[in-house]
Amino acid sequence: MSKSTNITWHDTTISKADRNAQNGHGSCTLWFTGLSGSGKSTIANAVSNELFRQGINEYVLDGDNIRHGLNKDLGFSDHDRTENIRRIGEVAKLFVDSGKIVTTAFISPFRSDREQVRDIFTEGEFIEVFVSCPIEECEKRDPKQLYAKARRGEIKDFTGIDSPYEAPEKPEITIHSNEVTVGEAVEQVLNYLREKNII
Ligand code: ADP
Repeated sequence: MSKSTNITWHDTTISKADRNAQNGHGSCTLWFTGLSGSGKSTIANAVSNELFRQGINEYVLDGDNIRHGLNKDLGFSDHDRTENIRRIGEVAKLFVDSGKIVTTAFISPFRSDREQVRDIFTEGEFIEVFVSCPIEECEKRDPKQLYAKARRGEIKDFTGIDSPYEAPEKPEITIHSNEVTVGEAVEQVLNYLREKNII
């Protein structure tokens, strides 16, 4: 709930539409969601690299970086995870307003949290990208050795082990990262952006 009163939204003199026209492309959030180790960071960064190479304004919002700064006061309780995602959604929205294609790579395990973020965006600007991968495969990859720690009881409330992951019901894009290469995943995302005339 808002604690501020007498606050109004100021429209800036240069609009998102002006920025998009100057850039020659639209802006949106590509919201990657999936288990730890499913490939969100890898694919989100690869998408951003390709967009950058094509001269498109992009930015990556990555989980750990945000937790170092903006959200360093938050932990991994349900309440803190919800607040983490809410703030990231608001930041992503500002980047979209600035004309960027933002990729975000957060587990964002709760459906209602993701839906709350979707609701603050204009229709079509929030693109949910579900990185689907069996937990056994994620655990085998274990790039940050987090599953190993969770199994040893050194991390609690770990998504997929002792905290739930709620898969999206109608994601705009589903990537089966155990079946496609990173390059193919990038192409899948770029094809979607082309189809929607965002790029
Ligand atoms: P997350 O951000 O979802 O926690 P990461 O991107 O950090 O996941 O780690 C995924 C790991 O899986 C990386 O080590 C990556 O190299 C590996 N990997 C293997 N195949 C794929 C694929 N097809 N897509 C994405 N990552 C893959």
